[in-house]
Amino acid sequence: MGTLSIVATPIGNLGDITFRGLWNLKEANAIYAEDTRVISKLLSHYGLRTSVFRLDAATETTKAKEIAERLIRGEHVAFVSDAGTPGVSDPGARLVAYVRESVPDATIDAIPGPSALTAALSIAGLSTDKFLFLGFLPHKKGRQTALKGIAQCTVPVVLYESPHRILKLLTELSKFAPKSRVTIARELTKIHEEVLVGKPLELAAQLEKKKAVRGEFVVIVET
Ligand code: SAM
Repeated sequence: MGTLSIVATPIGNLGDITFRGLWNLKEANAIYAEDTRVISKLLSHYGLRTSVFRLDAATETTKAKEIAERLIRGEHVAFVSDAGTPGVSDPGARLVAYVRESVPDATIDAIPGPSALTAALSIAGLSTDKFLFLGFLPHKKGRQTALKGIAQCTVPVVLYESPHRILKLLTELSKFAPKSRVTIARELTKIHEEVLVGKPLELAAQLEKKKAVRGEFVVIVET
């Protein structure tokens, strides 16, 4: 029976991949990736030539069957998301659940590594013995309830946010939790990495001064 390796990949800096991660990407019969272009860049950086196939959120179920067949044939399959740890606000969970169920004798290996979640917490300077990770807030239904919940939360709340929604999120936080202390970790491990700390309105004003809000964001809210 084969092995499915769930491999964490860099969230920006291509140096952030473990030896074990690279070894698995090299030795696998096939790599399934959320975006084949992203993984191809990583593979060519390290001179690896493993075959790559697409498995994104839309194709996760059908591709899971294909992977199960490979595992039954005794193959080694690696799965990577675009960046960071698969399954953390990324595809991967349905694949793992399917393989566990349909090929119970296959080995599923965690190949840990970067995640924007842990990277942000590691430089936020907060007590992170306890925190609540909510990932991306729902865009419409349930958003207000989530924001009310954040305002009442007694432990730091960690969110993921995209550049075109970050100002909206800060404006909403200024209404629901105006006095909260917000830490924004932006572009982690990349050239323009920065950490901004302040009240929601202060941070919105800082970001608005920039011509365009670019990058990827982890937002930590302490109320
Ligand atoms: N699986 C990934 C992980 O383990 O971090 C997260 C994938 S999720 C689709 C992408 C979100 O993660 C981005 O919108 C952003 O909120 C956050 N993120 C990813 N890379 C980041 C970076 N370099 N700096 C800050 N946030 C990042």
